[in-house]
Amino acid sequence: MANYLDSLNPAQKQAVLQKDGPMIIIAGAGSGKTRVLTYRIAHLMNSGVDAFNILSLTFTNKAAREMKERIAAVVGASEAKNLWMGTFHSVFARILRAEADKLGFPSNFTIYDTQDSVRLITAIIKEMGLDKDRYKPKQVLSRISSFKNSLITVRAYFNNSDLQEADLMASRPKVGDIYREYVDRCFKSGAMDFDDLLLRTNEVLAKFPDVLAKYQDRFRYILVDEYQDTNHSQYLIVRALADRFQNICVVGDDSQSIYSFRGANIQNILSFQKDYPDVKTFKLEQNYRSTKNIVNAANSVIEKNKTKLDKEVWTSNDDGESIKVMCTVSDGEEGRFVAQSIFDNKMNMQLKNDQFAVLYRTNSQSRAMEDALRKKSIDYKIYGGISFYQRKEIKDILSYLRLLINPNDEEALKRVINYPARGIGATTIDKLTIAANHYKKSIFEILKHLDKVDLKINAGTRTKLQNFLNMILRLQIEAQTKNAFDIADTVIKETRLVKDLESDGTPEAVSKVENVQELLNGIKDFITDKTEEGNDASLTAYLEEVALYTDLDADKKDDKPKVSLMSIHQSKGLEYPYVYIVGLEENLFPSAMSMNTRSELEEERRLFYVALTRAEKVAYLTYTKTRYRWGKLIDCEPSRFLEEIDERFLEYMTPKAPIGATNRFIDAGLFDDAPKKIRFQKPIQRKRAEKEQAKKTTFTPPKNLKKVSQTSSGGNLFDDKITVGNIVEHNRFGKGEVIKLEGAGANKKAEIQFGTAGKKNLLLKFANLKVI
Ligand code: ATP
Ligand code: MG
Repeated sequence: MANYLDSLNPAQKQAVLQKDGPMIIIAGAGSGKTRVLTYRIAHLMNSGVDAFNILSLTFTNKAAREMKERIAAVVGASEAKNLWMGTFHSVFARILRAEADKLGFPSNFTIYDTQDSVRLITAIIKEMGLDKDRYKPKQVLSRISSFKNSLITVRAYFNNSDLQEADLMASRPKVGDIYREYVDRCFKSGAMDFDDLLLRTNEVLAKFPDVLAKYQDRFRYILVDEYQDTNHSQYLIVRALADRFQNICVVGDDSQSIYSFRGANIQNILSFQKDYPDVKTFKLEQNYRSTKNIVNAANSVIEKNKTKLDKEVWTSNDDGESIKVMCTVSDGEEGRFVAQSIFDNKMNMQLKNDQFAVLYRTNSQSRAMEDALRKKSIDYKIYGGISFYQRKEIKDILSYLRLLINPNDEEALKRVINYPARGIGATTIDKLTIAANHYKKSIFEILKHLDKVDLKINAGTRTKLQNFLNMILRLQIEAQTKNAFDIADTVIKETRLVKDLESDGTPEAVSKVENVQELLNGIKDFITDKTEEGNDASLTAYLEEVALYTDLDADKKDDKPKVSLMSIHQSKGLEYPYVYIVGLEENLFPSAMSMNTRSELEEERRLFYVALTRAEKVAYLTYTKTRYRWGKLIDCEPSRFLEEIDERFLEYMTPKAPIGATNRFIDAGLFDDAPKKIRFQKPIQRKRAEKEQAKKTTFTPPKNLKKVSQTSSGGNLFDDKITVGNIVEHNRFGKGEVIKLEGAGANKKAEIQFGTAGKKNLLLKFANLKVI
């Protein structure tokens, strides 16, 4: 495709032709940012830049593959293959394979996924004898993750009294100790978690100037898509690598920044301009994706955000249809509406399933949609939830494979040492763990030296451990000569894993056996693909790829087109002709956990902006009057986002009351005089009438769901109420008197004289004090 430049508008073309130096494109949704990035790479190659010298970072590996295909169409597949392209995690995992030994890690280090990390943290909390209700493993992990993404090492943590105080205030004083133990155990297991892939990359680049120089020299051109969602750790890697040649091009949209809860930082966009004073800034304003109605409706919503960069988005596309709003009585009804509507649209317009997407705020909303689609025999595919590679039977096999590559991998070993059951009980595993910790060795090393360690186990158990060890050692030797498929097949036979499932005989077990077969098929495909591409097809390469799969990546090419179901977070960068955004209710979207500060609410609004701008032709917004949440039927109010859309772009649908369901509609108060056809009232008109009722019925989320804001500078709601002399109550220290106040906003502190606990200095943001 020689005329690729002709498929760009003048602004896009300019950005593609700007070859050297730092540049930034901040532009609205659907304005061709990703397209510019793609053609820029093709153009660089056409102007003589070696593919090996180009590094391109994308949001999913799938996005990278698609970009590569487009580039291949311009420059040829054999050249495109040499590009460094992928997510931050996959690219830097690959680099760490070559450099990990410098940090004391084996080059065949394991990558722990979230499940592994949670299991390890759970084990540590238990071993330390801590209360698992106070130290919730997922919360502790997310705290540790936030340290790592801010490059706060264990040592830095213990040198930072503010951080320690925050954990103390959150009644989790041992977080630092858990962090230290977690890092030690990962290291001993030769394992890195997702955050380590970035943290350790930063570490190796900072500590080894020759390593930094090597990659700076290699990556002469660096491109980053979805730059608004990079976290500090990623930002630092990019900055370090680009430092020498400064040929860095980042594209993003501040209005689509939706990962601040994972440490992404809008500030990165602003810092970019400071880091590179001679940066060239490009604007793209024309949207090619959506109809005028959709573009304008999305603009009318995002306008309400105070924190945003100035930019216009317009389109020369048709007006298109109005955005359709639908209210239903229940979440089940909402699902049936969506399924019926997809069915009708398919019939009326002769469309395929893959032209439709259903987007929701939380993964749990998919169930009602699935049920309804299944009943209508509409094929669908869910992204998110438990992915294929997280299923137990699959993780068990993968754990065996991991163990063959890296026998020190503690999480893998613990998973399989007694699966399928071979009579090695929890007590024995505990004894092994204690011995491993004591000798500072891995459990596998202990197994190898059972004769030298007094584990106080009986001869029978010892034999079982010995047999397990021998099997793994034998398989390890086979793994050196067999390819990934053959070794997986051998593992399944040797461990009798499938036999074990088959003897179970339940339908669940049958489906598990099918999954195992599917895994083997996947490994076969992997080997074929990689061999064809001339790339590494080893077991190590396979495990790495699988560990870094996101659900979108695992999307296998299937001949049957399917409706896509996914959370809005996952939908970033994608586009579909027909989009259904469901569950537009207060406390669900915006989420009850994200309404405490303006910045949280603005992030929810950006999320809504992302959702709406995925639609090319038609967008449907649905909400329901009642919904099951946390096992209870609750009444819902329409989302404020519905009211924020300029009414000119909306159309309220007129549902026919289903025969036989009329009474239900009347009961729910939806129809004033059913069964005649009636238009739904618009939320705005309904608002007043509902206010009274809402007061009675509005759902208040359970207290423990309220998240303490860690980013806001505004502090919590209590700040301003507290003054010197107040008597306050703390849920651990009891009652006390405020003696002194200092600092402001998030840093506001109080010195309090407690009756029994003595004098304490507390950060108000975390202290949750009640004035009494
Ligand atoms: P997002 O913010 O959602 O990531 P984006 O800015 O990356 O969007 P793209 O995905 O690159 O936008 O482009 C949106 C759609 O518009 C794509 O289908 C793309 O092929 C099309 N498009 C972009 N530029 C042009 C153009 N100049 N002519 C025709 N179509 C275009
Ligand atoms: Mg894009």
